[in-house]
Amino acid sequence: MAKDFYEVLGVGKSASQDEIKKAYRELALKYHPDRNKDSSAEERFKEINESYAVLSDPEKRRQYDAYGPEGFSRRYTQQDIFRDFDFNKVFRDMGFGFGSGDINDIFGSMFGFGAGQQRGDVGNDILARVDMTLQEAYSGADKRIRLRHVMKCERCNGNGAEPGSKVLACPKCGGRGQVSSTIRTPFGAMQTVTQCPKCGGSGKSLEHPCRECGGHGRKVSEQTITVSIPKGVDDGMQLRLAGMGDFGARRTGDLYIEAHIGQDGMFNREGEHVRVEARIPFYTALLGGTVSVPTLSGDQKIEISEGTADGTEVLIRGKGMPRFKRTGYGDEVVTVRIEMPKSMTKEQRDLIKRFEELDTKKKRFGIF
Ligand SMILES: [Zn+2]
Ligand SMILES: [Zn+2]
Repeated sequence: MAKDFYEVLGVGKSASQDEIKKAYRELALKYHPDRNKDSSAEERFKEINESYAVLSDPEKRRQYDAYGPEGFSRRYTQQDIFRDFDFNKVFRDMGFGFGSGDINDIFGSMFGFGAGQQRGDVGNDILARVDMTLQEAYSGADKRIRLRHVMKCERCNGNGAEPGSKVLACPKCGGRGQVSSTIRTPFGAMQTVTQCPKCGGSGKSLEHPCRECGGHGRKVSEQTITVSIPKGVDDGMQLRLAGMGDFGARRTGDLYIEAHIGQDGMFNREGEHVRVEARIPFYTALLGGTVSVPTLSGDQKIEISEGTADGTEVLIRGKGMPRFKRTGYGDEVVTVRIEMPKSMTKEQRDLIKRFEELDTKKKRFGIF
């Protein structure tokens, strides 16, 4: 079971950033390993930090709300969750004192991603929603989508160096991206191999950082893209666009487009089939005839047989939705609704009366 970050912090889904910060501060102080020697405190403290790392970041929070705890935990590793989360800064802002050493390294080790892992080199997957009508889902549609995501910096082509300047090996780690050291933690001294604090694990040292991105090699920007949604797409379906998510030097994330198909006033979709109601006059129901009914590809004539009852279903093969990424179409089911006249002229009334008399006589003599 994935943890519900809102529950961990004890705040509501609509909590403001201030409320989240306040809840985090209280809980972090309570379960801080320096103060709380209870054996379960460390686990709790991890959860609290994990929850705060996600909910304090508007973009991660948005993705968490969209995917839910299960979906989020499938897509985000702990490393993703703590990317760009600076424990040193958070703790300083909160006014927490803490042992010695680089807190980011200590927590990196605690969460299991401190050693040998490079921060910021794997881009997140992102999710975007697109609203469509049933008609658009029927024919397929090109939809414009606005994205705010991490993109590769064009100026330095993602390597962080100002064009023309040199990229050197990091003097602290000699280009390995890792340093080994003994750090004192609240849990005792640990010999660890950690990410190099100087280069952040990249092993590089920039002569001149790129002016555009400040040496990060990436930046957050808005982009409008046009996506061709294939015909037959169903509500809630996710389409994956590989490599269209957040940029990362080692792996760029994927973009998931989730289709939301609005209710249609006329057609009711059931997977690849559609249902529609057709109102026919009572005399057509009695005598039979041809009526015109709507389909997603325009009106179509259907035969009504003599003596059709209200609620009768007529199947029109191949007039449903296109099968998603397969050939062929579903069917349309027409439910016949018989309409009674709201008023009648004297002549119409006499004719119906005459019908009634004949019908009664027929029954009396046992003629069917
Ligand atoms: Zn750049
Ligand atoms: Zn280094």
